[in-house]
Amino acid sequence: MTILIPLVIIILILSVIYFHHVGKKRNIEIDKIKNIIGGIRRNELHDSSEIKLGKYLQNLEDEIKEMFIKNKTDIEYLKKLERIRTEFLGNVSHELRNPIFAIQGYIETLRDGAIDDPKVNKHFLEKATDHTINLSNLLNDLIDISMIESGEMRLSYRYFEVNDFLQPIVNQLKSLADEKHLELTYHTCRPNLKLFGDKNKLKQALDNLITNAIKYTETGKVEVLVEEDKKFGKIIVRDTGIGIPEEYLSRIFERFYRVDKARSREVGGTGLGLAIVKHIIEAHGSKISVKSRVGEGSEFSFTLKK
Ligand code: ADP
Repeated sequence: MTILIPLVIIILILSVIYFHHVGKKRNIEIDKIKNIIGGIRRNELHDSSEIKLGKYLQNLEDEIKEMFIKNKTDIEYLKKLERIRTEFLGNVSHELRNPIFAIQGYIETLRDGAIDDPKVNKHFLEKATDHTINLSNLLNDLIDISMIESGEMRLSYRYFEVNDFLQPIVNQLKSLADEKHLELTYHTCRPNLKLFGDKNKLKQALDNLITNAIKYTETGKVEVLVEEDKKFGKIIVRDTGIGIPEEYLSRIFERFYRVDKARSREVGGTGLGLAIVKHIIEAHGSKISVKSRVGEGSEFSFTLKK
């Protein structure tokens, strides 16, 4: 009994010392955590390696590092989106301004007297009409691209007979080719070849590719053909047009990118066609490819599942 009392007192003292020590350590650790969280909040940390809590808090350190990296990439992604959005808006305003100013110019000139001049009045009206067509092409493409990019494009996949699908598309564009004295041909493929995709969206992509082929070809021909292997069918649009310099090949699918701006506008281009085509083909799990040689022609193609 007499020995028990001092023992209990010693144990109590030791416990107090121990808990005081542990408490002090915890306070230091909590301060470290506070500092790190404060640093993150104030954007003072540049790299996850600056987060250090020591070996006893390794798990927490790893968690905070992971959270820091995720936040950083999320913020960078949002900033990038914001930059793209601002750039896109700038491009759209610029593109809208051109036809609107042109239409305004022609109307004002007509109003200020040209309307009574038979040498120019019809020509000015025709020019103004051309610009309204450009404007409406641009608005349609803008509506398409915003639908696609906001995820509102719904695709409905079915098997379709390739010849039945491609022949009418080519036929519809014959008059456009005729105007430029170009030969436009569809080389029919094996009857009953069926491919899998959304016919409406694929028609939109092919309309764009064939129209481009006609727009950027001065002499020769535009051909549409299909190659087939065991699992896939490849639809090819080939022309003998101006071609695209190698260094621009990867950029022509960007929104508003044109090799020759003036020429594109002259032929009623919006600079959005190939961006729309790329989206449509990628939505089919495929990829749009291009081969081209300046002065010889271009070939755009993509594959679909059989
Ligand atoms: P645009 O409305 O200007 O034709 P697109 O997005 O359809 O815009 O095409 C982007 C650019 O790619 C065009 O401005 C043109 O420079 C080039 N291009 C597209 N298709 C062809 C082609 N078949 N031959 C030559 N250049 C082409």
